Amino acid sequence: MQLNVLTLPGDGIGVEVTREAVRVLEAVCRKFQHTVKLTEGLLGGIAIHKTGQAMPPQTAELALDADATLMGAVGLPEFDEAPPERRPEKGLLGIRKILGVYANLRPVRAYKALIDSSPLKNHLVEGTDLIIVRELNGGIYYGTPRGISGEGEEERGTNTMTYTRAEIARVCRMAFNLARQRRKKLTSVDKSNVLETSQLWRRVAVEVAAGFPDVTLEHILVDNCAMQLVLNPKRFDVLVMENMFGDILSDEGAVLAGSIGMLPSASIGERKPNGAWVGLYEPVHGSAPDIAGQNKANPLGAIGSVAAMLEYSFGLTAEAAVVNHAIESVLNAGKVTADLKPAGAPLTTAQVGEAVCAAL
Ligand code: NAD
Repeated sequence: MQLNVLTLPGDGIGVEVTREAVRVLEAVCRKFQHTVKLTEGLLGGIAIHKTGQAMPPQTAELALDADATLMGAVGLPEFDEAPPERRPEKGLLGIRKILGVYANLRPVRAYKALIDSSPLKNHLVEGTDLIIVRELNGGIYYGTPRGISGEGEEERGTNTMTYTRAEIARVCRMAFNLARQRRKKLTSVDKSNVLETSQLWRRVAVEVAAGFPDVTLEHILVDNCAMQLVLNPKRFDVLVMENMFGDILSDEGAVLAGSIGMLPSASIGERKPNGAWVGLYEPVHGSAPDIAGQNKANPLGAIGSVAAMLEYSFGLTAEAAVVNHAIESVLNAGKVTADLKPAGAPLTTAQVGEAVCAAL
């Protein structure tokens, strides 16, 4: 198979972890005799510096041409005070929008080797294996009217949370399909006791459930969900929720996995004519300016994102399993970066990448 992949390393540790993810992608392709054609594009702070735009039009073209896009992270401290439309994160929202990826899948697994890295008690975390499906293309991050208007005491910030029935139904369908391939339990997260968008969300989730009689649907309020994720994470299989709830709760998942550096993500859109899903793959973490350029970042979230890409965009499930298995064996061998607090000396980002390639 020929895999045409666009890489967007972005800023900070995004560059370092993407380098290792690409190295693993090339190694797994060699092993299974696929050819991989890599193109690199600009996104985020580096794109603003070089072109004046967080997502230059050329990046959009490259992403639409590629079979799949592998992203690092965006964000540079010098843009911290810039208005939203002139920040690197604008590139992130832009690429998601241009690809039409509407579901962000964030698997959270408590690896045995990392059980002591989680701040939660071992017996609570052990056996956790869940996927958070976050709606990515709508909700309060995109809704209008928005902005800051007025002056003095009357100065007002406005954002709008809005969802259509179609937007809710397509992400729920994707979550039901995932649950069907797993333990057949879907938890829909909302705030229907207060928000109209959530009342519609709950109604549509129930309607979609009629097409998936083999999957059990439960509803949970977002505040209770935040609590249950740390009290009893094992009770969850697949969770589906709107954009901002997913943004917040999936970081809580990082606590379960031991480090935010461990978490991969896949953002999926419609199916292409060849049956593959349009996909944007990236670790959950940001550009981590505090450790950028030090060869310290954990690349396993980015490498896990390669596994997700192989599975969802290319249908290469055996290859994906081999990558996930290599990640697990590297963890078991204690060959990890400092964030995972190894017993011995921590490895560098590049050494962890090498170890995963060797384990393939
Ligand atoms: P962050 O995820 O970059 O870092 C949070 C903490 O986790 C830091 O202490 C960092 O050192 C640590 N960390 C993150 N990834 C790690 C890894 N792979 N290995 C080891 N440690 C890791 O979040 P932040 O500090 O809130 O944000 C920094 C910048 O990143 C901001 O500009 C923010 O807007 C941006 N950001 C981008 C994305 C993205 O591109 N998808 C996501 C979140 C934040």
